[in-house]
Amino acid sequence: MIFLHVVIIGSGHAGITAAITLRQNAEDIKISMITEDTYPHYPRPSIYKIILGKKPEEILRFPEE
Ligand SMILES: Cc1cc2nc3c(=O)[nH]c(=O)nc-3n(C[C@H](O)[C@H](O)[C@H](O)COP(=O)(O)OP(=O)(O)OC[C@H]3O[C@@H](n4cnc5c(N)ncnc54)[C@H](O)[C@@H]3O)c2cc1C
Repeated sequence: MIFLHVVIIGSGHAGITAAITLRQNAEDIKISMITEDTYPHYPRPSIYKIILGKKPEEILRFPEE
């Protein structure tokens, strides 16, 4: 049996999309993510919604876990 452990550096759109695509295609793969971000992934184009009054947690794309 081959044990695959993928390490993704960065939790921006590229990193998150890579993790989701891997998980969708291989349930038992181990995925580790290393990031400098201190917050969960959010879509950068949605930053303007914060200026319009939304709370940061309201623009998160996915649950933190
Ligand atoms: C305000 C704003 C609005 C935007 N609007 C649009 C839009 O409307 N349409 C559009 O197409 N694009 C838009 N963009 C651009 C788009 O958001 C980026 O192209 C996209 O986020 C790039 O994704 P990425 O995953 O490649 O990089 P990033 O989102 O920059 O992610 C890089 C990741 O790498 C991590 N990292 C960096 N260095 C290290 C290190 N040494 N060790 C560990 N982790 C590290 C960071 O913490 C981060 O998680 C916008 C960007 C901004 C800032």
